Amino acid sequence: MEFEETCRRAAEAIRNAGGLVITAGAGMGVDSGLPDFRGEKGFWQAYPMYERLGLSFVEAANPDHFARDPGFGWGFYGHRTNLYRETVPHPGFALLLSWIERFRLDYFVVTSNVDGQFQKAGFSGERLLEVHGSIHHLQCTTPCSMNIWDNNETIPVDTATMRARAIPRCIHCNAVARPNILMFGDYGWISARTARQEERFVRFQDEGRRGPLVVVELGAGTAIPTIRYLSERLGRQPQASVIRINPREARIDAPHLSLPCGALEGLRGIERNLQFPR
Ligand SMILES: [Zn+2]
Repeated sequence: MEFEETCRRAAEAIRNAGGLVITAGAGMGVDSGLPDFRGEKGFWQAYPMYERLGLSFVEAANPDHFARDPGFGWGFYGHRTNLYRETVPHPGFALLLSWIERFRLDYFVVTSNVDGQFQKAGFSGERLLEVHGSIHHLQCTTPCSMNIWDNNETIPVDTATMRARAIPRCIHCNAVARPNILMFGDYGWISARTARQEERFVRFQDEGRRGPLVVVELGAGTAIPTIRYLSERLGRQPQASVIRINPREARIDAPHLSLPCGALEGLRGIERNLQFPR
C-alpha cells in the first residue's frame, strides 16, 4: 500500500477510535536526537569510550558494575541521566497528545524506554507503563528495602573515562544506589513501581469504551520483541487496529497498517490526513 494511503487509513482509524494505546521502543527517541544503541556499532558510535574498552551495550548495562566499581557503573547511567534530562521530546509527542484531546481518546502508554520522555512531553504518569523501569528513579543496590525514590541527584561524568564524579547513595542505608532499571542479567531489580503501573494498564484494558481500540507502535524493534508482541496481542481484539511505525522492521499482517519510516515522519503523515481528510 502506498505511504499516503496508509496514512489516510491510519487517520481514519484514529478518528473513529474510542481508545488509544501508544507502544514505544528505542526508535521513538531517535527524532529527539537520542541514540538507540542498535547493534554494537550504534552503541559504540554513541559511546566511543566503550569501544576502546571492548564493552558492548549488554556488558555496559550490567548491574555488577555498581558492586565492583560504582564510579564506572554510574559513568554510563549518570551520562544517560543527564542526557535524558537535557533532551527535548520531538514534536511527535505533542501530535499524539493533540489527537488524544481532539478525539477524546481514552489512552495508555506502554514503553520499553527508561528515559522519561513521555512524562516530559506532558503525558500522565498514571497512564504509563515503563516495562523496563525508569532512570529517573533509584533503588538500593543491596537492596536493604523495596523502596524506590526519585532520582534528584546531580551526577557529573568525565566523558573521557566515562567515570562518574559523584555516586548516588541509598537514602536508608547509604549503600550505593542504582537506577530502578531492569538491566541485563539483573536479579536485584525492584519491580514494585512497574508492577503498580501494570495494574493500572490491566484496569485500562478492562474498561468499556465507546469505540474500537487503536494501537500506535513507534520504533519498537525485533531485538527485544516485548513491545511488538503487546501491540499484536492488543490488535487481536475485535475491530482493533495496529499502526506499526518503524524505519527498518515495519512488517505486520493486514488489516493492520505498516508505515516504514521514523516515528516523527509517520506521525506527521497521519496528522496531515487528520487535518485534510480526503
Ligand atoms: Zn539501602
